[in-house]
Amino acid sequence: MQPTKKYALPAEVRAQFPFFDTKPEIHYLDNAASSQKPRCVIETLHQYDAYEHANIHRGVYGISERATDRYEKVREKLAAFLHAKRPEEMVFTSGSTESLNTLAFGLGTRLQPGDEILLTVAEHHANLVPWQLVAARTGARIRYIPLTADYRLDLNAAAELFSPKTKVFACAHISNVLGVIHPLEILIPMARAVGAAVVIDGAQGIVHLDVNVQSLDCDFYVFSGHKMLGPTGIGGFYGKYEKLCELPPWKGGGDMIESVTLEQSRFKCPPHRFEAGTPPISACLGLGRALDFYATLDRERLEAGNLALSKQLTAYLRGRKGYRVLVPADETAWVGIVSFHHERIHAHDMAAVADTQGVCVRAGHHCAQPLMQVLGVTATTRVSPYLYNTQADLDALFRALEQVEMLL
Ligand code: PLP
Repeated sequence: MQPTKKYALPAEVRAQFPFFDTKPEIHYLDNAASSQKPRCVIETLHQYDAYEHANIHRGVYGISERATDRYEKVREKLAAFLHAKRPEEMVFTSGSTESLNTLAFGLGTRLQPGDEILLTVAEHHANLVPWQLVAARTGARIRYIPLTADYRLDLNAAAELFSPKTKVFACAHISNVLGVIHPLEILIPMARAVGAAVVIDGAQGIVHLDVNVQSLDCDFYVFSGHKMLGPTGIGGFYGKYEKLCELPPWKGGGDMIESVTLEQSRFKCPPHRFEAGTPPISACLGLGRALDFYATLDRERLEAGNLALSKQLTAYLRGRKGYRVLVPADETAWVGIVSFHHERIHAHDMAAVADTQGVCVRAGHHCAQPLMQVLGVTATTRVSPYLYNTQADLDALFRALEQVEMLL
């Protein structure tokens, strides 16, 4: 059903989120870690768990069949959301971390000593540690694309690093620390030219962009439901169907097999081959509802509003003493995640004082310790607005920062 009106103002969006009804004094600016859920998603979770629950794919009775249909409908919605060719290209997992581990395991079975995995220095640990495990198991070598002084990937260095030895290229679409949109339209063709498999960590990308996996021409695209207005415990990945067919599963169990004998098992075709065990069914339906909710939003206008708030923040910080703002000077190809560092105030103190003012911001290494080393800091404060944040949230943050500076 097509929505009649699209919400274009953060205040209208905010009104759909019970979280803000109960906590008007809270200024939630930690959306890169996890977003809040609209009422319709919460109601879907409750409705299913309270009145409609049965296990999927196994029952021959009506409630189970209905649950299965609804679960598979979410796969269709996700395929449409990411512009995949067909629903069978969407695999459900618990989120980005499980998706990346699944892909690292599967692609890792083809690697041998002398092969190379190309990552960037700006990856989240979820797109780094699984590859380190694979490298340790196979003898493959990991190489890293460095950053320029302006917090972007160094494309000249990337061109040098891609070679026929590169078997996997795995890269975030958007950095969770820097908010930079990496130039996949340049990097993916480089990977294609040397025949490398392309894995995109879209945990932040799917949140801010209208992602089209076909025009990106990636082999795999990974995401988490809880960052995109959905529940925790559900997420998944897109895979080109022929690439999914070549990928061995890492998780065995019920629901992913065609037949089992005491000697061996035959697996189902993708995507079910990768979905062993009972999934979080209500969470999956909740994610489907979040996708419906996105269809009621004018995402482009809301994102533009977000970006305007973030630009105000970078201008404010750049105008004050002691701050280093870890955002490219040219704020194009940037989604408004603002990480910053103060020469005399630790990020944890900054976030703790902000909390006393009701402002929720992140402090720490953001699961990107190698990036922190490259940037020469141990921690940053990170502010990440989303579609329901308003000027009032930013003003509260400014007041909190003034409070922090009074401690000096
Ligand atoms: N990749 C990126 C870029 C992220 O920002 C995150 C979470 O912050 C992850 C992967 C891991 O996501 P999850 O914890 O939902 O598995």
